[in-house]
Amino acid sequence: MGNEAIGRGIVECGCAVATSYPGTPASEILEAVVAFSKEAEHRLHVEWSVNEKVAYEVALAASYTGKRAAVSMKQVGLNVASDPFMRSAYLGVKGGLLLVSADDPGPHSSQTEQDSRFFAMFAKIPVLDPSCPREAKEMVRLAFELSEAYEIPVMLRPTTRVCHARQAVPLLDVDRDGRTARFEKDPKRWCATPRFVTDLHRALTEKLARLAADPRIAPSFFPGDGTRPGTCLVGSGVAFAHAWDVLDELGVTGTVDRYQVTVPYPLPPDFVACVQGYERILVIEETYPVIEMQLTDRRIAGRVSKLVPNEGELTPEVIRQVLATFLGLAPSPPVEGRRPPGARPTLCAGCGHRAVYYAISQTFPRGIFPGDIGCYTLGMNLGAVDTVHCMGAGISQAAGFYHAYAQDGTAFPTVVATIGDSTFFHSGIPALVNAASQQARIIVVILDNGTTAMTGHQPTPQLGVTATGAPARPVSIRDLVRASGVAFLREADAYDVDAFIGLLREADRYCRGENGGVAVIIASSPCVLSGESGAAGTAHAVRVTEECSGCRECLDMFECPALVWDDATGTVGIGRAACNQCGVCLHVCPTGAIVAVAGGAG
Ligand code: SF4
Ligand code: SF4
Repeated sequence: MGNEAIGRGIVECGCAVATSYPGTPASEILEAVVAFSKEAEHRLHVEWSVNEKVAYEVALAASYTGKRAAVSMKQVGLNVASDPFMRSAYLGVKGGLLLVSADDPGPHSSQTEQDSRFFAMFAKIPVLDPSCPREAKEMVRLAFELSEAYEIPVMLRPTTRVCHARQAVPLLDVDRDGRTARFEKDPKRWCATPRFVTDLHRALTEKLARLAADPRIAPSFFPGDGTRPGTCLVGSGVAFAHAWDVLDELGVTGTVDRYQVTVPYPLPPDFVACVQGYERILVIEETYPVIEMQLTDRRIAGRVSKLVPNEGELTPEVIRQVLATFLGLAPSPPVEGRRPPGARPTLCAGCGHRAVYYAISQTFPRGIFPGDIGCYTLGMNLGAVDTVHCMGAGISQAAGFYHAYAQDGTAFPTVVATIGDSTFFHSGIPALVNAASQQARIIVVILDNGTTAMTGHQPTPQLGVTATGAPARPVSIRDLVRASGVAFLREADAYDVDAFIGLLREADRYCRGENGGVAVIIASSPCVLSGESGAAGTAHAVRVTEECSGCRECLDMFECPALVWDDATGTVGIGRAACNQCGVCLHVCPTGAIVAVAGGAG
């Protein structure tokens, strides 16, 4: 798998510190680092940091000591890490620093389809763009070498199709160069005040100019047979690989000159001049026109000329259309812009989040519900999530809603923010401190399922276990909430719907009281996929009686996947294999047709 190849490459390069925050499509990189380092008995520090900014800063400092360090994240994680990232270009590094920012054109599982290569250009650091897992692994080594040669962080930008593709890759031995940590103090550089920044910026510009002429970053050239003189294709990443496949399918591969750009920024000046010698140039890259902008030639067919679509993934089907138009071949059938709709994603059967969202929507039918990023985003299906923006935004947005309404002098609506435990550690804490200090009268429900569930069950700081499985000092959410200045804190079993509704009402009274402020409820329910489900512990076997009228309310408003529609009878039944016996649906049916099985678990 591409992510495993990258993880293997990091270990083979003798990396000493590897950090990450989980996020698709990058999550498996750090897991591979753990697995391969154990296998090779290579000693390194590896951590799931609380967020990408922290992960970047930990790896950066490790590189100051002369050791190699790697930090991996998904592309929106780089937004979080952008502050240390931007300055690190100016100050540079000592030991090689590899940043893996995995992009998600499409997007498949992200809130944007932003192009990290653009971010690299913005920060003025080189970026490598692999077209397959093997190349991604090879580029890890090149990235470390360039980083050390030019004392600059280097970005590797795989996309989902590279991260999740599978390919046989050659394995190499692990570098064991025996480096020891040695931090050389240099306040002008490592503490650079504005007085020194212009000099550092000048040095960065010079570094980039030298790097652009480095033969190791020159694009690969595949000459055509002269059938189409003056015409060339320039591509990078997996889009270039797709384009090659499509040219093969069309039977015209050898008729056109092809350039694979492996380092889209900075582009070698010789290459730019060479491309400008062509009459017709097609640029295929994902997702922004990074190469195209540097070629600065109006004859280019690409995103600026709108031959290549400016949004969405460059699938082989899209590229087939582009190439057919550019090369004057018979047009392909039109491409549907979007993937065909699949089944709507929903929370798992027996998930404690569903119980909480059901309780919130029932208690406050006119409430405002800012949500957050995680599997619990799916609370929107239950009418209990109104906004989803970025990691940690739910609490801040809840405060914003409150302040906007409260100043009108009329009764303010109940505002309930929901946030998962991992997201709370990631960026919920500053938002909670801010809301408490600004006396926002909001309810915050922390959905604590004991893991980072959506990205593959990585540990949170509360769990007391490191990325390698070793014991660590647990950090308590309860203590953090108290330390944030929150006076109202309650803890609850997510499955006890009646008690939870009672707590929500108590929290609302507190918010509206004379000295009201932020009310926090920690709702605990281990993830049902973790094997420690609290739902299984409650063991409420349920059945649907003949009272079922087929109104579908339990399907449309509650949508537990274990509730199944029977076309033959026009009623609902229980899918025994899927049912986790959480018993929450006992509260849902307006006619009381869902009942407990007499005698308990069944
Ligand atoms: S008890 Fe009801 S809500 Fe719980 S998993 Fe079974 S069908 Fe779904
Ligand atoms: S079980 Fe209840 S809510 Fe579900 S369809 Fe039947 S009557 Fe409606």
